[in-house]
Amino acid sequence: MPIRQLPAHLINQIAAGEVVERPASVVKELLENALDAGSTRIEIDIEQGGGKRIRIRDNGGGIPQTELALALSRHATSKIASLDDLEQVRSLGFRGEALPSIASVSRLILSSRHSEAPQGWKLFGDGQEIFDEPEPVAHATGTTVDVVDLFFNIPARRKFLKTEKTEFGHIEDMVRKLALSRFDVGFELNHNQKNTLRLRPVDDRSGAERRVADICGSAFVEQSLYLDYEAAGLRLWGWVGLPTFSRSQADLQYFYVNSRNVRDKLISHAVKQAYQDVMYHGRHPAFVLFLELNPQLVDVNAHPTKQEVRFREGRLVHDFLFRTLHQALADIRPGDEAGAPT
Ligand code: ADP
Ligand code: MG
Repeated sequence: MPIRQLPAHLINQIAAGEVVERPASVVKELLENALDAGSTRIEIDIEQGGGKRIRIRDNGGGIPQTELALALSRHATSKIASLDDLEQVRSLGFRGEALPSIASVSRLILSSRHSEAPQGWKLFGDGQEIFDEPEPVAHATGTTVDVVDLFFNIPARRKFLKTEKTEFGHIEDMVRKLALSRFDVGFELNHNQKNTLRLRPVDDRSGAERRVADICGSAFVEQSLYLDYEAAGLRLWGWVGLPTFSRSQADLQYFYVNSRNVRDKLISHAVKQAYQDVMYHGRHPAFVLFLELNPQLVDVNAHPTKQEVRFREGRLVHDFLFRTLHQALADIRPGDEAGAPT
């Protein structure tokens, strides 16, 4: 075959292979967009495990009519404009890939009303690159992305979807993970018209604690330590489970770097080491922790889904985490431990 330029929709479908693995990945990308848009309330409606429909409605800043089509085209983003911006990016997105990728593997309806516009507009996609002109739509300020029949045009992918229950389980996990990253935002999740999660926006520590309890269980909150420590421009805060609250699996471990949920070897290693003296071998700690640092010290452009990060000064971050957690755990006197014999 001669060398040829691939058509745009095929390029998007190939990119979708990286960012859209399953319905939960669509939910992740759309929720991140809603958060980046400054939303304070987000409603998520799922039908049939997301295979039939994923609809996310937010009350953020919205998209101007003139930019709707651009939002669905590849490498188009409002979040960065230069390498300099990329190096200090604070938004969750910046690659301009999610919407075009999702649009290339589903039937998509993008409806939005910009905060300064007198009305809303919507645009349809059918998995191809051609979209008609936007049509007027009744919409409050904000955006609704309706993703119908995910993978309808990629039978091989569609076949890999698991049962409704399993896919919805992944969606729930994703929503919980993102809901822990922003206590000031309300989330509502419905599956087949039934509400499964409702989290009100909160603005103080006890509200945050309630949300952590809703997501991780009240036993975790009762048997955890709240910490907030800052040194050398690094801040670590959140809840660490007492050694008595150890788990047989590493299933209650949430770590955020500048509000972005990450899975990172360096972080896991530092946490594990901090718990080493106080936890039996083979047991896993539980934690909900937030690391905040200058965005220039962390490279989030390491992977398309951005779940991996690279620290410019890995050693420093590792030592800060280890020392802070180790000290916090060492400071626990036996009487502090909930449920400990008195
Ligand atoms: P990225 O998030 O990397 O910029 P996306 O493909 O996810 O790329 O979105 C493209 C653009 O569409 C965003 O940069 C943003 O301007 C706009 N957009 C997407 N979703 C929303 C939303 N929920 N509210 C407001 N604007 C949005
Ligand atoms: Mg995005």
